[in-house]
Amino acid sequence: MADTQSVVSDVKLFLERLKKEMPEIFGTQEKSTQTDDASVAPVAANKVLYNGDLFEARTYVTPDQEEGVSFDGKIFHVYLQSEQSDPSALVTQWLRDKAAEVLPQKTKDWAEKIGVEYNRVVLKDQRTLWASCSSQKNINYSYRIIKMPLVVQDYLVIHELCHLKFMNHGEEYWSLVGQFSPDYKLHRRWLNEHKDAVFEDVHITLTKDNTEAAEEK
Ligand SMILES: [Zn+2]
Repeated sequence: MADTQSVVSDVKLFLERLKKEMPEIFGTQEKSTQTDDASVAPVAANKVLYNGDLFEARTYVTPDQEEGVSFDGKIFHVYLQSEQSDPSALVTQWLRDKAAEVLPQKTKDWAEKIGVEYNRVVLKDQRTLWASCSSQKNINYSYRIIKMPLVVQDYLVIHELCHLKFMNHGEEYWSLVGQFSPDYKLHRRWLNEHKDAVFEDVHITLTKDNTEAAEEK
């Protein structure tokens, strides 16, 4: 079966193993000095996690305007046809579209630098797996990667592409990853600390105040 052969990378599984293999990057509860950011609350309602930052989302009911999302660099403006529209679905689609735009390009760029060839990039809605690399040389990503800081996105791309040279997590493999992502241990820690927020679904509710402001009543 292709399935049993194909999965050479499972970020979630390796993170679980990581605690045993590399305890130094996790610390222990007794000795933890990272009390301020060691635990991360789930993303609050009407906040959007994107490129590692939390942004405010504002909703507007604008029946004359096409539904959609506009991000101005600070705020996600969500334009809805009616109060029955689903702002969470619109923002989720925006994130998916952004992932479809960004991740294939990142993969192409890093593959050239690392000197590997892949078949194609496949975006999935994986809730427990960030990325994987198949024996057919397909690179699979969860679109949710787009929520991570850019350096962590890069690390995940590099992680998968390096599996095209080493289909394991051995010393040679990590040495190659380290050449292109020198701070990969920090990125792995970020992933472990923020996985709940990354996998959490977007939750946007209609905010009455903004609706009224947008309609200039
Ligand atoms: Zn891996």
